[in-house]
Amino acid sequence: MKITKVNVHLMQAGAPTHTAWGGAGKSALASGRNWLFAEIHTEEGLVGLGEGSGWPRVVAAALPDLAPLLVGEDAFQTERLHQKLRVAMMGHGHLGVVGSGALAALDTALWDIKAQALGRPLCDLLGGRVRDTVPYYAHVKDAETARAAVARGVRALKVGGTRQIVERAWAIREAIGPDIDLIVDLHGPAWLTGADAVAVGRALEGAHLLFLEEPVAPDDPLGWRRVRDSVALPLAAGERLGTLAEFDQLIASGLIDVVQPDTGRTGGPTQLKKIAALAEAKALLVAPHSGSLGPVAEFAAVHWMAASTNGLILERLEPDWDGKQAAVTRSLQASDGYIAVPAEVGLGTSLDHAFVAAHPSERNVALPAGGWEPGTEQETPYLQARRSRARLTNQ
Ligand SMILES: [Mg+2]
Repeated sequence: MKITKVNVHLMQAGAPTHTAWGGAGKSALASGRNWLFAEIHTEEGLVGLGEGSGWPRVVAAALPDLAPLLVGEDAFQTERLHQKLRVAMMGHGHLGVVGSGALAALDTALWDIKAQALGRPLCDLLGGRVRDTVPYYAHVKDAETARAAVARGVRALKVGGTRQIVERAWAIREAIGPDIDLIVDLHGPAWLTGADAVAVGRALEGAHLLFLEEPVAPDDPLGWRRVRDSVALPLAAGERLGTLAEFDQLIASGLIDVVQPDTGRTGGPTQLKKIAALAEAKALLVAPHSGSLGPVAEFAAVHWMAASTNGLILERLEPDWDGKQAAVTRSLQASDGYIAVPAEVGLGTSLDHAFVAAHPSERNVALPAGGWEPGTEQETPYLQARRSRARLTNQ
């Protein structure tokens, strides 16, 4: 399968309107969400598709730099090509999520080609199915949206943020009862101290969370240690990491129970398989991050979960922007809290080029909710967010 060219497609994506992410344009997703897709063409006519997140608009500039390293190569040699691309970027320092996002887009497309050429769904090449459906959780913001999600059939929910999070999480738990899984994501803001996170975690212990996500920032190891030693809840992290070495350090740290790679910025299936193995060796579970991801990375996550014995649950924005279905020719099918593993060959979908082209990228950064409250324009976002510490709990 000789590679002939790499095409890059970048688009501005909309935000979901009916979840905690969309409200009144307060989410960073509402104005800064981009989706980036790479297509690798072969001499035989097969086209592989992958998605790269990280910082999509920046990764889009990296991909044409890397493409000449693939042209003329055999698409089947995913391990060697992964290393070739990684080594080629070494001169720019640590790969981070941009380099790893570029790797994810290209590596996923290579695996799509391999699976298409062999006439099998991608999960069959990653170890074969250990499940036919993948459980997922949806985002909610309060008891009312939680009840609506459960009424739709969703079996696991996540509530995020720090503002009055204890009060909201308990209201949701009381609204949904004990049989629906509940996750709390503090998003590890830089201003949240270990002491704050311990207070929140302890106040949530009786709510029987599936896990507490990013109680402090990933670059605050002392804060993480403090939470780990003081809070009796499973902890989860990993969405902001890129390289295998970063995941190895996180897994070996003993600080977490659930690993959350973002399938658009962690090096593609070649690296995802290794992350699952590292986690399995430490009896940890994997729960792919989705967040702002587009439809192609979600297909990759479903195939990876289908073939991973330690796959716990997949994040999913639901309902999402209508464009998530329109950007691809075939969408994932979800019902009653589970996504069906695609039976089609390869990744199982392809791009609707006209739709993608009709939504050109405009911007790819935005302040998250909570920044620049009226009357505080002279303060930095850090100080503004820090002030809301008083609203962490209502105790
Ligand atoms: Mg998160």
